[in-house]
Amino acid sequence: MKTKPLFIVMSAPSGCGKSTLIDMLLQEYHDIVYSISCTTREPRGEEEDGIDYHFKTKERFEELIAEDAFIEYAKVHDNYYGTLKAPIEEVLAEGNSMILDIDVQGAAKVRERVRSLPDGDLLKAGYVDIFVMPPSMEELRRRLEGRGTDSRESIERRLANAEGEIAHADEYMFKVVNDELSVAYKRLCDLVDALSGRM
Ligand code: 5GP
Repeated sequence: MKTKPLFIVMSAPSGCGKSTLIDMLLQEYHDIVYSISCTTREPRGEEEDGIDYHFKTKERFEELIAEDAFIEYAKVHDNYYGTLKAPIEEVLAEGNSMILDIDVQGAAKVRERVRSLPDGDLLKAGYVDIFVMPPSMEELRRRLEGRGTDSRESIERRLANAEGEIAHADEYMFKVVNDELSVAYKRLCDLVDALSGRM
């Protein structure tokens, strides 16, 4: 079936199940490709070039910035992180879709950039941004505490960050509340099906 290629940008506070939802989507929709970011930080542990990140030197990254190769980039703790425009264009040109997992600030930059593209540009035509919401702050706290992986301090920091991020939720075209994973996933699929004309 021929579907409209989408450029999906997804954000969520940590603990909202965004990565799980994206993994489920990628398992089921073989025409959706996950966007791998570039970074200048060193690989950690088992991380592999081209799988977890495209690892670049600072010099190469700065060349790419000068070439305007990034749809967005940011400097975080002395390291650059960014998303190249060309791979998204290639995927969409092939008729497939790309999904980008990015924080609220990064998404705002992408949105701004996409807005400035000419009408008819594939990225602009297929653009959709989705914010994954926790059902409530109380439930998010319960989930973060339930993971048992974070210190009290880290949980409080994540909750404060979450509040800051949720304040931007209305900037997104769609919100998916993750109250129950299977229900949230169904909502996400319905959205993707409707937007890509897969009905
Ligand atoms: P880490 O070094 O732990 O993998 O990631 C550090 C931070 O960089 C995370 O907050 C992550 O969301 C952010 N990040 C990863 N890729 C990108 C990207 O392509 N663009 C931007 N702006 N931030 C990114």
